[in-house]
Amino acid sequence: MNNFTYSQVNLLGDAINEYRRNAAYVAGGTNLIDLMKENVSRPDKLIDINHISGPDIIIEMENGGIRLGATVTNADTAWHPLVEERFSLISKAILSGASAQIRNMATNGGNLMQRTRCYYFYDTATPCNKREPGSGCSAIDGYNRIHAILGASDQCIATHPSDFCVALAALDAIVEVEGRDGTREIEFEDFHRLPGENPEKDNTLQPGEIITGIIIPPNRFANNNAYLKLRDRTSFAFALVSVASAFEMDNNTILKARIALGGVAHKPWRNKNAEAFLEGKPATAENFRQAALIILEAARGFKFNAFKITLAERAIVRNSLQALNLEHSL
Ligand SMILES: Cc1cc2nc3c(=O)[nH]c(=O)nc-3n(C[C@H](O)[C@H](O)[C@H](O)COP(=O)(O)OP(=O)(O)OC[C@H]3O[C@@H](n4cnc5c(N)ncnc54)[C@H](O)[C@@H]3O)c2cc1C
Ligand code: SF4
Repeated sequence: MNNFTYSQVNLLGDAINEYRRNAAYVAGGTNLIDLMKENVSRPDKLIDINHISGPDIIIEMENGGIRLGATVTNADTAWHPLVEERFSLISKAILSGASAQIRNMATNGGNLMQRTRCYYFYDTATPCNKREPGSGCSAIDGYNRIHAILGASDQCIATHPSDFCVALAALDAIVEVEGRDGTREIEFEDFHRLPGENPEKDNTLQPGEIITGIIIPPNRFANNNAYLKLRDRTSFAFALVSVASAFEMDNNTILKARIALGGVAHKPWRNKNAEAFLEGKPATAENFRQAALIILEAARGFKFNAFKITLAERAIVRNSLQALNLEHSL
């Protein structure tokens, strides 16, 4: 671990002003400090953003949406009455992840920014384009059980490990950020990026920008949603495949469909063609299977993870039926 300075700020503007190259904001520290201990991240200055007021609250919006503060913990978010009542997909996704202790520390902003769990990214003795651009990718011909089946590049096949983000992708969340040039809003699908030629960049946040909040627009998915996480152990493990499904229904006809996948790509994965295919159709296992085939049409497996393609297909069907209490029809 290298030497670093630590400062605690109370104002958002102070945090932004204190930021300089090779500094890092620290929130819960559950990912950053691990990466520092492994020598993967080597910031020389930590700016503690936990004491800034504003990003630390959850607010109901006038239009029926909700704004989740960036420094609210994952636990406080999951158990918040408004979230549980109207945006329960978020609670389900958060509670499927990590452990109670980690969720008590981990924040919403930090969850979006957490880095991949690719084994080689953490192992500084091996080449990794994400950790050291241009050094190569050890996973492509290595042990790639947990890696991507969609949207990968010949530079990186890592996945994004978050559960929370899969629900946010399904719910068309908006990320509020603030930096030296002012505030801006980023649509969730544009927040995380695919690896392409620059796998070192996980997202579209600019250096020094802080996530201040996450807006969830109003929706009618409260009674018809489910989150399914499939993993090697039933707790304290990241998803091999996860699915967030949410529907707006008119009796058995799907009016609006949202299906997002986790554990399969460098970002939470949505396919709007598959969602459009479902809209106007009855909620049947066969229609969900057809939608799954559309989502997975471009999927490509590697030596140890090809099983994820079938796993994802089955998970989409099962979880979508579960969202509508129709799993008995499988
Ligand atoms: C053992 C273990 C198991 C886990 N299992 C799961 C799981 O199953 N599912 C899951 O989704 N997650 C899981 N996690 C990850 C956990 O959810 C994240 O580590 C956590 O959400 C990160 O939040 P944090 O506040 O601790 O971030 P920190 O560690 O403080 O920061 C992480 C990164 O985010 C940046 N950052 C933090 N806040 C902001 C902000 N507001 N604006 C800009 N940048 C910011 C930091 O600079 C840093 O780069 C697990 C973690 C551990 C250690
Ligand atoms: S998959 Fe990405 S993170 Fe993993 S070794 Fe390859 S470049 Fe690094």
